[in-house]
Amino acid sequence: MANDTTTAPKRGRAAAATDAPPAPQDPREAVAPLLAPRHQRTVGHLHALAAAPPQVVLAEGGAAPERMALALYWAALLNCEAPEGDGTDGARPCLACPACLRMAGGGHRDLIVLDGNKPSAEEGSFSIDNVRALRGLLGEPPREARRRVVVLVDAHTRVEAANGLLKSLEEPRPTTCFVLLAPQRERLLPTLVSRSFVLTLAWPTDADPPSPAVRGWLDALVEFIQTGGGWMERTSRKGDLDAPLAAAVVLHCQRTLADVLAGRAADPLGRLLAERMDLARLRRCDEALAAAQEALSLSPSPVNPALVMDWLATRLFLGVR
Ligand SMILES: [Zn+2]
Repeated sequence: MANDTTTAPKRGRAAAATDAPPAPQDPREAVAPLLAPRHQRTVGHLHALAAAPPQVVLAEGGAAPERMALALYWAALLNCEAPEGDGTDGARPCLACPACLRMAGGGHRDLIVLDGNKPSAEEGSFSIDNVRALRGLLGEPPREARRRVVVLVDAHTRVEAANGLLKSLEEPRPTTCFVLLAPQRERLLPTLVSRSFVLTLAWPTDADPPSPAVRGWLDALVEFIQTGGGWMERTSRKGDLDAPLAAAVVLHCQRTLADVLAGRAADPLGRLLAERMDLARLRRCDEALAAAQEALSLSPSPVNPALVMDWLATRLFLGVR
């Protein structure tokens, strides 16, 4: 099965939805999103964990490219061939040795990436078939790396496949490290979270407050949820709401919801949701936000952003009643 490229999970980086084999990337570029100052603490945690790596690391928070960068950095850190303890802080991962080049840069045979955003038929998707093939592979030692690294991108989008994977996790294999990437731990099965060492990346908006345009839409959303008015007039104005702006509004709502779920202080929208929704409703709200995000990122032709936002606002309006 090792040479069966038609059914084996795709090895290497699979962040971009493309049929072409992943082109090796400059490892420094690949991990750069993680090296922003706001992630310094998280990087410190990774280094502390590397001495005795947990079987599963769950990376939540941040933006998708930052979570992916964390996975690649971790894969390089676990396999870097640079000498240890040469006195320089952070000598590993060196991002220059053969292991780093192919782990962080993509294309290493022992780096397996399954992406929950890919259609099931596509190579490297988080499909039942690929999980089954992966489980077979896990019975074998890594080909050349010290540790095989299995990255599950947006694991929450494939509940059945995640269940299949859980079974393989019941027999710990110290030579394999899993990295689960998800926007929030609440979106994964509790049994999966309880097996994981959770690292929370700083949300992008922590350093980057919403723009006035996003703020305006958020205020309008709060008004609509409370009164049922003002929103549709706003979205029907042609040209006011493009897909990137709508996606930014949705991202901010997701961050707000994460604050609410974590019991952190939230903005007016968060306070409204916290007051009016129980946990089951908050979860449905989270699902609606994820569906809106997905609709807005569909390529090549995104769904009309005004329609997506009308649908989302209606779901939130009904959700508090
Ligand atoms: Zn290295």
